[in-house]
Amino acid sequence: MGTFKAIRIDKAEKGTTAALAPFDEAELMEGDVTVRVEWSTLNYKDGLAVTGKAPVVRRFPMIAGIDFAGTVEQSSNPQWKAGDKVVCNGWGMGETHLGAYAEKARVKGDWLVRLPESISTRDAMAIGTAGYTAMLSVLALEKYDLTPSNGPIVVTGAAGGVGSVAIAVLSKLGYHVIASTGRTSEADYLKDLGAAEVIDRAELSGPAKPLAKECWAGGIDSVGSTTLANILSMTKYRGAVAACGLAAGMDLPSSVAPFILRGVCLLGIDSVMCPIELRKIAWSRLASDLDRGKLTEITHEIGLDEVIAAGAKILAGQVRGRIVVKIL
Ligand code: NDP
Repeated sequence: MGTFKAIRIDKAEKGTTAALAPFDEAELMEGDVTVRVEWSTLNYKDGLAVTGKAPVVRRFPMIAGIDFAGTVEQSSNPQWKAGDKVVCNGWGMGETHLGAYAEKARVKGDWLVRLPESISTRDAMAIGTAGYTAMLSVLALEKYDLTPSNGPIVVTGAAGGVGSVAIAVLSKLGYHVIASTGRTSEADYLKDLGAAEVIDRAELSGPAKPLAKECWAGGIDSVGSTTLANILSMTKYRGAVAACGLAAGMDLPSSVAPFILRGVCLLGIDSVMCPIELRKIAWSRLASDLDRGKLTEITHEIGLDEVIAAGAKILAGQVRGRIVVKIL
């Protein structure tokens, strides 16, 4: 057995260290499928892991990276054979299980989703956990029976990964999308993606009133904190908000008023332990409902050697759209 290149996280006297280094194949963890990783991506959580800003990594040594797309190399799982194109995200990869920033990954076959024919391994990571989470949020709003005729949908963290894909998908489905961003200089970018209106996130970041003017039928929120509280208080009667992120904080300084006086529903979105059947639906809907041209426009490519620096940028809110990481 040889070695392969990986972004390795080790425990240090104070915190952790991250470096691109050889990793011994014999150290790969248990799993019945070995995948040749072709592409990965950079998520907010990856930024936290490679910079050590939050205790995302819970096993050492760790390979960072929470999602990958690639080709099955070896499998003892009857669902998979060499040559299958797969995508994998969450399940503790990069946290408790060796992750995606590596030439090889060994995982449980039950974690993998077969890539739809029309999605390349690069496109799968241009979508990445962020795009798949955006789709889980759209599916949650649909399950709640929201349709474009109910009214606008607000998307917060609009210029980020989840936000950008959410806007592209919602606009393709016919929704009137209101994009909330701190980077109003990106208004043209957001309108090209499909936003009908762009608002300054400062409008949503102050303390929330229990109820405010009803402005939208629903929302996809990747920001949390007072932003989510404001969105809830501005949601129309019987509307729904999918909460999937915490870019501004984990708190939710709200009241029960939107829930008990307007019947507003708060829908929780978790991508990490999401059941496999829902994952398959999400990837198949991404194949049909995400404009691939728009995806290309929002995607920027880096190499494995650039991941650590890019991790600091995503935490500083300086990344626009999606970053794919070329592994092989
Ligand atoms: P990005 O960094 O790409 O996007 C986050 C966006 O949030 C930024 O681009 C910025 O948008 C906005 N933002 C950042 N800081 C603040 C702030 N202090 N106040 C208000 N807005 C802010 O990250 P992702 O899109 O990859 O992820 C977004 C969030 O979703 C993260 O918190 C992440 O952890 C979470 N997430 C959760 C998942 C789940 O399973 N529930 C899965 C994937 C992600 P703008 O410049 O337009 O204002």
